[in-house]
Amino acid sequence: MNHDFDLLIVGGGLVGGSLALALRDAPLRVGIVEALTETQRQALTAGDRALALARGTVQILDRLGVWQDVAPKAMPIRHIHVSDRGRFGKTRLHALEKGVDALGHVIVARTLEDRIARELRGLDAELICPARVIGLKAGPNGVCVTLKKGEECLNVTAALVVAADGGNSTVRRLLGIEQNVRDYGQTAIVTEVSTEADVNFTAYERFTTAGPLALLPLERKKCSVVWTMKDQEADELLSESDANFTANLQSAFGYWLGKIQLASRRQGFPLKLIRAEKMADDRVLLIGNAMHQVHPVAGQGFNLGLRDAASLAERLLTKLAFNEDIGEKAFLDRYARARQRDLANTIHFTDGLIRAFCTDFPPFALARNAAMIALDCFPPAKRLLARHAMGYGFRF
Ligand SMILES: Cc1cc2nc3c(=O)[nH]c(=O)nc-3n(C[C@H](O)[C@H](O)[C@H](O)COP(=O)(O)OP(=O)(O)OC[C@H]3O[C@@H](n4cnc5c(N)ncnc54)[C@H](O)[C@@H]3O)c2cc1C
Repeated sequence: MNHDFDLLIVGGGLVGGSLALALRDAPLRVGIVEALTETQRQALTAGDRALALARGTVQILDRLGVWQDVAPKAMPIRHIHVSDRGRFGKTRLHALEKGVDALGHVIVARTLEDRIARELRGLDAELICPARVIGLKAGPNGVCVTLKKGEECLNVTAALVVAADGGNSTVRRLLGIEQNVRDYGQTAIVTEVSTEADVNFTAYERFTTAGPLALLPLERKKCSVVWTMKDQEADELLSESDANFTANLQSAFGYWLGKIQLASRRQGFPLKLIRAEKMADDRVLLIGNAMHQVHPVAGQGFNLGLRDAASLAERLLTKLAFNEDIGEKAFLDRYARARQRDLANTIHFTDGLIRAFCTDFPPFALARNAAMIALDCFPPAKRLLARHAMGYGFRF
C-alpha cells in the first residue's frame, strides 16, 4: 500500500523532535505534525523551567548533533547533595569520584526546545506546522490521519504513526487508550532564585515533610527551584507575597547557599503519575509524555522519553536495513515490551523516593536518615544512586 509518509510523528517537542533528528539519515519519508509555531510555544512554555539532564541523555543529544550548540548554556552538575531537613543524615556524590567531569547537566527547557525546533526546520522531513491531529483511523495496512491546518482539513496516510504529543495526547484519546492515573495530590512549584554563595556546580535535593525540594545550578549564583508539596499548601504558598514565599523557601532549604532571593515568577504544576494502558496499537506507538508522566522529583521525565526515542530510532534503522515493514505488529509489540523494564524501573525509583522521603512518621524518618548516612558510607549503594543520576541505571 502506498502512503504519503512512511513515518508520521505527531508532536515536534523535545521527544518527537529528537526522534525525527535521530532518523535524519534514514531512507524514510518522515512527516512531523506540530500544533504550535515557535512564537506560540515561547509564549506558552514556562520559560524558566529547567531540565536536569542525565549523563546518558547528554550523550544521546550529542549524537543527535544538538548538544555542541547548547552546551555553553548548560550548567554541569559536578556534585549532588542530598539531605533531610531537620535531620543529620546527608549524602554527597562527586563527579570526580566516578571518574567523570559531570554527573549530568542543567539546562533551561526552552533553550533545548528552541535548538531542536531550529534543527527540525533544516531536515528533509516535512514539517506540518501549525497543525493538529483531529482524527485518526488505524488499520492493519496503514493509518489515515486527519489534520486541521488553519481553516483547512487534510487527510494523510502513514505506515507508522508515533504519538509524541505530550501528556494530553490527542492520538491516545482518538485511539481510546485508557490511562492509569495516580494523583499524588501534590503540586511542584517552579521558580528561580539568586544565591549569596557560589552554587559550585552542585545540585541540591532536600527532603522535607512537605515534600522534596530541588535546587539545580543554572549559573554560578543562580538556581532553578522545584519544590513539591501537597496541593493545598502549594496553593497557599503560590498566593503568598514574594517576600513571604522567599522566607518559607529559605527556612525549608536552610543556608547552604547563604541568603536566597526570588529571581523569577512562580508557577505550579499539579503532579500525577500517568501511564497509558498500552504503548503499541495497530501501526501506532506512544512515546514520551504521551505514554508516561512521572513525578519530577528525580528529574527523569525527559530523560526517559529521550530513551524511548533513541531506542525506537535504533530499532527502526535495523528494520529498514532488512527492508521490512516498520509498522508490523510483531515489531511494535517487541519494542513496547523492550521499553517496559526501563519504564517500570524509572517509576519504581521515583515512587520509592517519594514514599520514603515524603513522610515525617518517626520510624520512617529515622530509617531514611540512617539510610542516607549509610549511603554516604557504603560505596556500592552510592554507586547505584550515581548510576541512576547519570542515566545509566536503566537499559533500553
Ligand atoms: C515541574 C517539572 C519539572 C521537570 N523537570 C524535569 C527534569 O529535570 N528532567 C527531566 O528529564 N524531565 C523533567 N520534567 C519532565 C519533562 O518536562 C517532560 O517529560 C518532557 O517535556 C516531555 O516531552 P514530550 O516531547 O514527550 O512532551 P511535550 O514537551 O509536552 O511535547 C508535546 C508536543 O506535542 C505538540 N502537540 C500536542 N498536541 C498535539 C496535536 N494534537 N497535534 C500536533 N501536535 C501536538 C505540542 O505542541 C508539543 O510540542 C519535568 C516536568 C515538570 C512538570
